[in-house]
Amino acid sequence: MSEIEEKPKNQKRKKVSLDPRLSEYRGIWVFIEQEEAKVHPVSWELLGKACVLAKFLGVDVGAVVFGGNQEVVDTISKDAIAYGADIVYQVVDPSLADYRSDPFTECLVQLVKKYKPEILLLGATSLSRDLASSVATFLETGLTADCTELTINLENRSLEATRPTFGGSLLCTILTLNYRPQMATVRPGVFPIPLPNTDRKGMIIREQLQFNEASFVTKVLGFIPDPYKASERLSQADVVIGGGRGLKQASHFSLLRELAMLLGGEVGGTRPVVQAGWLEAERQIGQTGKTIRPKVYIAVGISGAVQHRVGIEKAGTIVAINNDPNAPIFDYADIGIVGDFLEVIPAMIRVVKNKISLKYDCLKKQGVGKAEEL
Ligand SMILES: Cc1cc2nc3c(=O)[nH]c(=O)nc-3n(C[C@H](O)[C@H](O)[C@H](O)COP(=O)(O)OP(=O)(O)OC[C@H]3O[C@@H](n4cnc5c(N)ncnc54)[C@H](O)[C@@H]3O)c2cc1C
Repeated sequence: MSEIEEKPKNQKRKKVSLDPRLSEYRGIWVFIEQEEAKVHPVSWELLGKACVLAKFLGVDVGAVVFGGNQEVVDTISKDAIAYGADIVYQVVDPSLADYRSDPFTECLVQLVKKYKPEILLLGATSLSRDLASSVATFLETGLTADCTELTINLENRSLEATRPTFGGSLLCTILTLNYRPQMATVRPGVFPIPLPNTDRKGMIIREQLQFNEASFVTKVLGFIPDPYKASERLSQADVVIGGGRGLKQASHFSLLRELAMLLGGEVGGTRPVVQAGWLEAERQIGQTGKTIRPKVYIAVGISGAVQHRVGIEKAGTIVAINNDPNAPIFDYADIGIVGDFLEVIPAMIRVVKNKISLKYDCLKKQGVGKAEEL
């Protein structure tokens, strides 16, 4: 259903025109993903991007909030307006208390059929990926998954959804020309979270839909939260230290964990180290892992393959430590250290510890010497 726009090097894009019967679809919607009253940050990231795209189209931004508790849904709706939504479409029903494909799909499909948004954006999280594919199937429309950029084609108002392809070695831009809405999922961390403005005003539409609970094949028996939330912490950390196959063995990750702890950061890694069982799968960074945007990313024993690069290129500063001066990671790192990580990382740990104890001594001299004030 989607078409890949051909864009050969040094040639203009092929001109495409929009079917006029699709013009009744207007507006950009973002599905707000929440679990246990906690909104996934990707929803706010998408609202920020939706506002930018909506300006090009001259349309409103809609947020869709589902849940089982009116108070929770109201709070999230207000937040959605602060983050850029003009209209919030709410549905509150006991069947929507916890995520399940069936009721969420039914609900979103019905809303889309009624209000006809031209673009529907969701996070590329496990929950929203499941929902997006199911909704696209029922609506018989195109879905571009795992996008890294979204733009508007001003000639025909269509969404240009860009995503890595062919193992991450190419980027392709996909347009859904003959079906609406145009659906896309975007990975967490690709777009920045906009600053919320609590003075913003928006409209809230409360929809009431009838659900036949007996027709849903899945039942929620309980909710067991992930106590470590490794994936979430990795996406939100200011400092991330990534380990690669150059670490040689799982036990060497303890050095990275020690440095990360001192810097208040998190540890991630490449696909081979996850496949080797040295690191949990939620901590994989790259095309088939997480996209992160820390202030500082320290890549240790990582060659810098394109599939890893796509996950880290939004980092503020990339520091690479590798004993091969020709490693591809040095082509895009901001700071490169050629050396054996077994020498470099302990040296960094020593420097950070010294700085911390100097600061501690200094605070002590000033009479504010409490460890927690560090
Ligand atoms: C479809 C597909 C999806 C993929 N998805 C991902 C993904 O999401 N994330 C990902 O990371 N990869 C992914 N990959 C794999 C990717 O192509 C690379 O194979 C992988 O990133 C390489 O991992 P690495 O850098 O740890 O290992 P290597 O490429 O083996 O690099 C190890 C590096 O360590 C250095 N080194 C060795 N000893 C030391 C030392 N003592 N001190 C310092 N440096 C040292 C070496 O010089 C080398 O540069 C994917 C591949 C495919 C085909």
